[in-house]
Amino acid sequence: MSIEVAKHAGFCSGVRSAVNQALETARVCRQKNLACRSLGPLINNPDAVKALEKEGLIAVEQPKDAKGCVLIIRSHGVTEAVYNEALGLALEVIDCTCPFVKRLHETVENYSKDGLPIVLIGDRRHPEVIGTAGWCKGQVHFVENIKDVNALPPSCKDALVVSQTTFRLETFKRLVEHLKLRFPGILVSNTICSATKVRQEEARELATRSDRMIVVGGKNSANTRKLFETCLSWCPNTILVERAADLPSHCRPSGVKIGITAGASTPDWSLKEVVITMNDIEKIDQMTPESVEEQAQEPVQQEAIQEETAQEEAVPVEAVQEEAIQKEAAEEEPVQEEAIQEEVIQEEVIQEEVIQEEAVQGEPIQEEAQEPKEQAPKGDMHMLQEAVSNFERIRTGQTLEGKVVLVGEDEISVNIDYKADGLLKKSDMVDEDVQVGDTIEVEIIRLNDGEGNVILSQRNIVNKKLWAELVEKYETGEYVEGIGKQAVKGGLIAFISNVRTFIPASHLARHYVENVGQFVGQTLKLKIIELDNDKKRLVASRKLVLEEEKAKAKAEVWARLAEGDVVKGIVRRFTNFGAFVDLGGVDGLIHITDISWNRNVSPRDVFKENQEVDVLVLALDPERERISLGYKQLQPTPWDDVEEKYPVGSILVRKVVRIRPFGAFIELEPGVDGLCHISQVSVNRINKVEDVLKPGQEVAVKVLNVDPDAKRISLSIREAMEDPSFDYSTFIPGDDLEEEPVEEQGEEVETPVKEQVEEPTEEVVEEPAEEPVEEPTEEQVEEPVEEPAEEVVEEPAKEPVEEPAEEPAEEPVEEPAEEVVEEPVEEQAPEAEEKESEK
Ligand code: SF4
Repeated sequence: MSIEVAKHAGFCSGVRSAVNQALETARVCRQKNLACRSLGPLINNPDAVKALEKEGLIAVEQPKDAKGCVLIIRSHGVTEAVYNEALGLALEVIDCTCPFVKRLHETVENYSKDGLPIVLIGDRRHPEVIGTAGWCKGQVHFVENIKDVNALPPSCKDALVVSQTTFRLETFKRLVEHLKLRFPGILVSNTICSATKVRQEEARELATRSDRMIVVGGKNSANTRKLFETCLSWCPNTILVERAADLPSHCRPSGVKIGITAGASTPDWSLKEVVITMNDIEKIDQMTPESVEEQAQEPVQQEAIQEETAQEEAVPVEAVQEEAIQKEAAEEEPVQEEAIQEEVIQEEVIQEEVIQEEAVQGEPIQEEAQEPKEQAPKGDMHMLQEAVSNFERIRTGQTLEGKVVLVGEDEISVNIDYKADGLLKKSDMVDEDVQVGDTIEVEIIRLNDGEGNVILSQRNIVNKKLWAELVEKYETGEYVEGIGKQAVKGGLIAFISNVRTFIPASHLARHYVENVGQFVGQTLKLKIIELDNDKKRLVASRKLVLEEEKAKAKAEVWARLAEGDVVKGIVRRFTNFGAFVDLGGVDGLIHITDISWNRNVSPRDVFKENQEVDVLVLALDPERERISLGYKQLQPTPWDDVEEKYPVGSILVRKVVRIRPFGAFIELEPGVDGLCHISQVSVNRINKVEDVLKPGQEVAVKVLNVDPDAKRISLSIREAMEDPSFDYSTFIPGDDLEEEPVEEQGEEVETPVKEQVEEPTEEVVEEPAEEPVEEPTEEQVEEPVEEPAEEVVEEPAKEPVEEPAEEPAEEPVEEPAEEVVEEPVEEQAPEAEEKESEK
């Protein structure tokens, strides 16, 4: 299907000039408070006449009705008598007679001044023909058909044959042939105006290549009717309409070629309205029932269709507009050159030249033909268009206000100041509480539903505003909310208000999403990443929102954190080297050594998942985005009152926790270990600590020294054994090892232990007790003491000091430390995110 608009269609130069002069005159009259009248309707177009009335130009039938007024003579012209009468009665006469008509008047007046007859071909009832006849000084014979030719009197052999300016050219030629048969020497002047000729020739050509023709113009316009007749003779499917609303419902153009033309008195906007409506009809016809239904469900899409329509319309409509401005020149050029030469039928060349000379001598035709162009500012045409639009011009996609005149069950009727009320279906309403008399804003979505109804929509207006908002949010990056609707291949369909939006699966979360369906029904914070203005479709991302929010939260956390701060966090996960704590978008690590003063606990012994904790910010590394936290630092240290709890000289029963070559560490309480140097393990000299002690073994120890600052406590099993105030018999070192070595060391281990335990005990405790006590005292002081002293002072001195600090550093600390370094905080994000999305 295609639509072709005739290049020369709509206002001719004569009509355009008359309208412009009339509008200007009406404007001046309003300013001067004068009445403005036209002798008969200015042009034969009801829409334009109504518009002119609004401008104050009222049509009257006779000059006497314009007494004291400014009177406009329309383009058809009037008789000499009427003109003179008007001059005598009217305040002022503005002669808008078309130059072509005026030239015709002068031609017949000059030819007939000596009483020669005139044969005037045309409609004898038409104002132009009546007016022309009034300028003839001799007899006038009207001819419309062959019968009229045959009825002419013999005196017509001396007549000059002229034509109504808008007469059909083909008919004129045929009649002239008959006239020549009757009066071979008759003079002929083709006075059909070039605007009419051009329109008719174009219309004929367009009709021959079109399946259907639409002629736009007033039904009382002679030139429009002639145009219609011309088209009809070449294209049987020709219709005549005054405006778009007159297009019949059966005028469905699917699969056919449509030609459109318009009479010389047809305003441009009437033609454009018809072209636009035809495009609308075509679009609707091309839509499948499904798409129509979809369109109803998603009104936003209508805009796309309308926009497409507008784009497609652009060429023909613009072409028409261009024509409207330029066609005067195009029409007048041939007129000036050919007005007389081509009008004269070729066979009558010599005779026509005589007429031509007379005509030219009689008046400056060319000058007058150009006059309308010079005197017709385009602004006046716009004034008329504007005036018409005030009461009747509407177009598809236009938003206007209307008054509710009827509220039905399924639709309401709205007065939109148009010839027909608009229908607003409830499915297209936004404000459901509408009452008769309310003024509401509506959009025209169709000029004609096939039954002459104008179809309106409120939802389109809302959708347009919504779309505009979405476009703005897309451009600014502002977040929007959408609701997950359906899981589809590759992602999720969501709706942001009423706009269909696709979220690719890779944009649903910061991690891989296996079950897209989990987002159906969820309200999602989204960012629009693609926008198709034509299809009104969106693509959005949730992942970007999450990433941006995380980055923002991270920046905020980093901005407020400082080393030494105590902050709250949530324990999120555990590793073998510590626990990660969420500080509100950023995770920090509590290393295992900073969890508890008791180094024998695991993170899970202290924390529960999602537990809120207060932590101390130990260190910040922005470059590596690492935050070191401490928990134990906020807890009381067990060393705070060790001197009171473990006074020097007291004897305690505790367990061995670690064996080292230089001694055994004995836990006094969690976090407080004391060292029993190898020299203090037994009353006898031993080679290896493990020969006597095993981890887990309970022993009695005497507190030799307490140094809270150095976190060092020296213990002695030997002195506990030798202390007379303590009954060590139930805590003989090695006693409780009887069972332990059985499995691992077998009989060989058991036996020596028993021996070691029982025999030395007797020696030490019962018999040799005195001696070893006395003598070793000396040794301790003088000889043997040197060595043990060295050992006690140096090794243990390092050990207890270093041990709490270094031991963990060597064993559990070193490795986790590496892991802390390698384990980037970022890596925790996916898990954290997983949890988030699972929520
Ligand atoms: S149709 Fe021709 S004669 Fe009539 S007003 Fe237009 S230009 Fe003038």
